[in-house]
Amino acid sequence: MQVPGPFDYERATSVDQAVGLLERLGSSARLVAGGHSLLPMMKLRLANFEYLIDINELRDELGFITVEADRIRIGALTRHRELLESDELAVAFPIFREAEAVIADPVVRNRGTLGGSLCQADPSEDLSAVCTTLDASCVIRGSGGERVVSMDEFYRGPYETAVGDAEMLTEVRVSIRPGGSSAYEKVERRAGDWAIVSAGAAVWMDGGLITDARVGLAAVGPNTTGIPAISAALRGKEPSEDLYRQAGEIAAASCSPVTDMRGSAEYKRHLADELTRRALRRSVARITGGGS
Ligand SMILES: Cc1cc2nc3c(=O)[nH]c(=O)nc-3n(C[C@H](O)[C@H](O)[C@H](O)COP(=O)(O)OP(=O)(O)OC[C@H]3O[C@@H](n4cnc5c(N)ncnc54)[C@H](O)[C@@H]3O)c2cc1C
Repeated sequence: MQVPGPFDYERATSVDQAVGLLERLGSSARLVAGGHSLLPMMKLRLANFEYLIDINELRDELGFITVEADRIRIGALTRHRELLESDELAVAFPIFREAEAVIADPVVRNRGTLGGSLCQADPSEDLSAVCTTLDASCVIRGSGGERVVSMDEFYRGPYETAVGDAEMLTEVRVSIRPGGSSAYEKVERRAGDWAIVSAGAAVWMDGGLITDARVGLAAVGPNTTGIPAISAALRGKEPSEDLYRQAGEIAAASCSPVTDMRGSAEYKRHLADELTRRALRRSVARITGGGS
């Protein structure tokens, strides 16, 4: 079935008005941002909503990349293309540009948004892995005000987030910490496809030692996975091939991929290991001057 069921459509004029509509209409309503995940699901009748609230005119409130002294704030309606093209974002967090360069194609990137990607909560979503890697915070607004949650709290499970029926994601915040860099690795069947597996890494160093490190994986189980055991294994250590090997082994052991049309569980575990090593190696090289 390639035609969605009937629905009413309203264009939101402000975040407050959109939240008011969500509150009034309840679970029969859904926000539509880029529509690249929601509309295919509605066409396939995997999802049916009576009301769609279009937030595309809320660019003033939700479409921004703002660099502050100690953090970058990104509005939920920021498009993939804008994340890809932002030089300020690429300088602070190269992982964003690297991930965006391999997300879908220009048609999807011109419309799809950061907020839609995170709220879709698909375990294969690349931006979820990026935000998990960077330990981003999500700002959720409802009629009672704003609350800020970590990515761990944001994800409740596949296609399920902490955003309530009468709430919306307005912003993602990423702290800028000194001595850090990041990288993203993805293996896909063909250009623009969803990941077979992807791995993001972020590393912070001081005096030749790793002070903190994070790895986020996508497409390896029921949810986008941050791996605290890798952070614990890397903190306080001098970077080395042996350390990357240990981290890769932890990544492979920590994830729970399934065999599907994209590859066997065994192959995906191998990728989780190898891509973790590569992303960590390149993050460190960026900090120490050994890589672009
Ligand atoms: C052909 C194709 C290839 C793709 N390839 C990739 C890929 O390689 N990697 C990848 O990561 N993704 C890929 N995607 C997915 C795409 O990047 C995202 O799913 C899409 O951009 C989601 O964003 P959207 O703005 O279109 O969300 P929408 O489809 O508009 O919304 C998705 C969900 O999020 C909700 N939502 C949207 N904004 C908000 C908000 N601010 N607050 C609360 N809820 C909200 C909606 O109600 C809906 O439930 C692909 C998509 C297509 C169609």
